[in-house]
Amino acid sequence: MTVRSKKLAMLDSIIRDIPDFPKPGIVFKDITTLISNPLAFKTAIDLFVEQLDDQDIDFIACPEARGFVWAAPLAYQLGAGVTLVRKPGKLPSATLQHTFDLEYGSDTLAIHADAFAEKDNPNVLIVDDVLATGGTAKATADLVAAAGGQVSGVAVLIELDFLDGRSQLSGLPITALLHY
Ligand code: AMP
Repeated sequence: MTVRSKKLAMLDSIIRDIPDFPKPGIVFKDITTLISNPLAFKTAIDLFVEQLDDQDIDFIACPEARGFVWAAPLAYQLGAGVTLVRKPGKLPSATLQHTFDLEYGSDTLAIHADAFAEKDNPNVLIVDDVLATGGTAKATADLVAAAGGQVSGVAVLIELDFLDGRSQLSGLPITALLHY
C-alpha cells in the first residue's frame, strides 16, 4: 500500500454513511466526521493540493454550504480567490441564477454577476464535497461561464461513480480523492 492509498483509506474510514437521508433510498456521505478530525482534514487538503498545485487557478467557485469548507483552505494554499455560489437571496449584490435537478429534488444557485470583474478570462476551479448527479457542478459551471470565468476543472472529495455525474460536465478535468 502506498502512502497516498493509506491516507485515502484513513479518510474513507472516517466518512460516515447515513442511510435514507435526506430521503429514503439515498445513502448520504457525511463528511462532518472528517472535517472535525484535525489530522483527517489536513490530510484531505494536502492530498488536494498535491493534485492541483501545478494548475493556474485564479478563483475557486464553491456551491454552498459544504463546498465553502473545502474552497477556503484550498484557495489559501493555491493562491486563488474564493467565489461563493449560493442559494437565491443570500448574495447581497446583483446576481445571475440557475435552476437545476438534484439527486433529491431541484435547486437554484446564484453567483455575483461581477464575481470575476477584476480579471479577464480568469481560470476558475469548482470545488465541492460530493459529485453525485453532477447537477450542482454543472449549474456552478454554467454560472461561472455566465459571469465571464473559464472553468478549468472540478475538484471533489467524493465522486459517486454510479451516478455518472461526470457525464454532465462535458469532458472537464475532474479531481476526486475518493470514489464510491
Ligand atoms: P449533485 O448535484 O447531484 O451532484 O449533488 C451534489 C450536491 O449534493 C453536493 O453539494 C453534495 O453536497 C450533495 N449530495 C448529493 N448527494 C449526496 C450524497 N449521497 N451524500 C452527500 N452529499 C450529497
